[in-house]
Amino acid sequence: METLLNRKDIFGLTLAELQEALTPFHVPRYRAKQIAEWMYKRGAVSFADMTNLPKQLREELGAALVIGRPKTKDRLDSVDGHTTKFLLEFADGTAVESVLMRQPYGNSICVSTQAGCSMGCAFCASTLHGMARNLTTGEILAQAITINDMLRAEGQGGKVDTVVIMGSGEPLMNYDHVLGFIRLLHEDYVLGMGYRNITLSTSGIVPQMYQLADEGLPISLSVSLHAPHQELRTELMPISRKYPMEEVIKAARHYADVTKRRVTYEYILIDHVNDGEEQARELVSLMRGQLASVNLIPINPVAERHLLRPSAARIDWFEHYLTTHHVNVTVRREMGTDIQAACGQLRNQHLQD
Ligand code: SAH
Repeated sequence: METLLNRKDIFGLTLAELQEALTPFHVPRYRAKQIAEWMYKRGAVSFADMTNLPKQLREELGAALVIGRPKTKDRLDSVDGHTTKFLLEFADGTAVESVLMRQPYGNSICVSTQAGCSMGCAFCASTLHGMARNLTTGEILAQAITINDMLRAEGQGGKVDTVVIMGSGEPLMNYDHVLGFIRLLHEDYVLGMGYRNITLSTSGIVPQMYQLADEGLPISLSVSLHAPHQELRTELMPISRKYPMEEVIKAARHYADVTKRRVTYEYILIDHVNDGEEQARELVSLMRGQLASVNLIPINPVAERHLLRPSAARIDWFEHYLTTHHVNVTVRREMGTDIQAACGQLRNQHLQD
């Protein structure tokens, strides 16, 4: 990507790509690794920060190249201090949300892959203004690095431990950039993150689910199910018309077969829409024989949508029904409802302002 000054943005390049970008400068090969580590692991936002590079080289590089990093436009901390939501703005003014969740097992972040979303799910805030554009690999990675830098600055050895690709956007509709991001996260000159610590969530883009299974990356797959049959699912998720639920489940089973990894089905609980006994029964029969678990997510009500969260009693009942019928089930612990943690809510507020 070119900036206004026509400097090439190197943030998001792999080591090999960086080596190529550095050829005009005739630097020894090890410089590329140094520069990559500076920008990905050591918080450098400009060449001036890279103190083990000769001063003249720093100036030369700074005149021709740029390290594109987003600005933090807004930051909201939950009252309990466990959840922080960031609104990050890129050079062209596009802003996206990322969330940090300080969990007992480590720091987990949730990144966006598109500005807005075109899926049109009935319960979701991200899609209310449609989709602005896909994010680049560098822009997705910048969310992780911005938060990692912040954790490092806090001291106490904090870092990003796990990543969920569950922010705004449909990651499998931005396949190449998302895969580039996942592979970069894993590199030792970036965060050296194990693939098992990365989870991708999809609304069920069937061809790319098969493609992902073929990549040979043991990342975790979550599938947004939200209804136990095609008719209700289509009402909630229009994409289900194009990729029917049955096909999505087939692709998820294939993913589990190939990767030997349990797939998680996300199921938002919406009061008197999909949380009744009939739906519980259907969901149980759908899950029979699958290497899968169900993650129940009591809906984060979005003001523009008229869908409500079930009572605690209904949520407990639904969970209990699945458990007694031998379905692996978890209920998503609530984090950050006081800071508009439902995907897209913070961005929408800024779009309105
Ligand atoms: N497009 C991908 C990833 C982004 S959505 C997908 O559909 O999976 C990430 C998760 O947040 C999905 O399971 C989505 O259904 C859920 N989600 C969206 N809006 C929500 C809301 N208002 N309350 C609770 N969960 C929501």
